[in-house]
Amino acid sequence: MKNKRLVMIPGPTPVVRSIQDEMGRETVAFGDPAFVKDYKALINDLKEMWETKGEVFVIAGTGTLAMEMAIANITKKGDSILVVSHGYFGDRFIDLCERKGLEVDVLQSEWGQTVPLQTIEKQLKSKIYAAMTVTHVDTSTGVAAPIEAIGEMMKKFDQTLYVVDGVCATGAEVERVDEMGIDVLLTGSQKAFGVAPGIAMVWAGPRALERRQSMDSIPEFYVDFEKWLPIMADPSKYFATPAVNLVWAMKESVRIMKEEGLENRYARHLKVARAMQKALEGLGFTILANPENRAVTLSNLIYPEGIDDGAFRSTLAEEGIIVAGGLGAYAGKMFRLGHMGNVDMHDMVAVLATIERALYKVGYPVKLGSSVGTFMESMLK
Ligand SMILES: *Cc1c(COP(=O)(O)O)cnc(C)c1O
Repeated sequence: MKNKRLVMIPGPTPVVRSIQDEMGRETVAFGDPAFVKDYKALINDLKEMWETKGEVFVIAGTGTLAMEMAIANITKKGDSILVVSHGYFGDRFIDLCERKGLEVDVLQSEWGQTVPLQTIEKQLKSKIYAAMTVTHVDTSTGVAAPIEAIGEMMKKFDQTLYVVDGVCATGAEVERVDEMGIDVLLTGSQKAFGVAPGIAMVWAGPRALERRQSMDSIPEFYVDFEKWLPIMADPSKYFATPAVNLVWAMKESVRIMKEEGLENRYARHLKVARAMQKALEGLGFTILANPENRAVTLSNLIYPEGIDDGAFRSTLAEEGIIVAGGLGAYAGKMFRLGHMGNVDMHDMVAVLATIERALYKVGYPVKLGSSVGTFMESMLK
């Protein structure tokens, strides 16, 4: 008999049945009154739950498009921007911003660490930056940036807008847009929302909307806030076709979040992450992210001596669990395990037991059941 397959990469994450059902519905016209009502309800919920007096843009696209939308609407050619990078996705802003003709300064940390707050502050004092980007959770390193503390410090720099990439965080790591001083928060549907890929979300706080207004025309067309503002206010209007079935899927995802309670969802992610991390360390893996800055959405696990990445991950896949490989200098030395979104206790226990089986099969000494025991002890506390 074949095992069920669990996709435990850091996005797309497992999609639960009720969300799949929304994607399987018969597609309606984008002006269908029932659909328009659902789209509006989704927009209102997202604004309310992530606490901004500004606007949220919910459009067809991926996280990368949301990054582009964020930058396009608050900077213009020749502006300076500061990119704070804790890995591969932080670095993605460099090319994106350079192509736009921005003057890009970069603060990079060693992988697994974060750029110290004082270093960021010192850099911000050195010149006027139109914006600064910070990746909340860099998926390549499993590092969570202290976005609240950074937002607090940013209050001293009122000409610099604060962009947070929440693609691997929003819906699992705590984020409150206005209160944390975030001007633009962006994410995609396929990570902690547990929806298939295809929806980009961008929250724009009041200062970001003002910045866009002050800029007249921008070169970009599809991602222009001005094009979408009337649609977000009244989704019966047309600018570009909404991803009808994915909007429904997102609405179901948000319904699940409201049923659980966003605060409970944050607490669950924290508890599960720490329990998983302890259990995996017990098996001999080393976690790349330093303990003070560990994400709750995924773990990046460096292999103990003697394990071949290819053999381990293919054995794991044969046993039914798909994980992601390491990036950059960590390719072949590490794997990445997502534990975010709508995953439950059954999934986590199965994941650990399967990792143990794979270790056993590749000849690594493992006490079967040990990580499951460690995990459940933490969870029952
Ligand atoms: C996945 C990811 C992205 C890119 O999102 P896509 O949907 O693949 O375009 C950007 N930033 C972070 C932090 C991510 O994890």
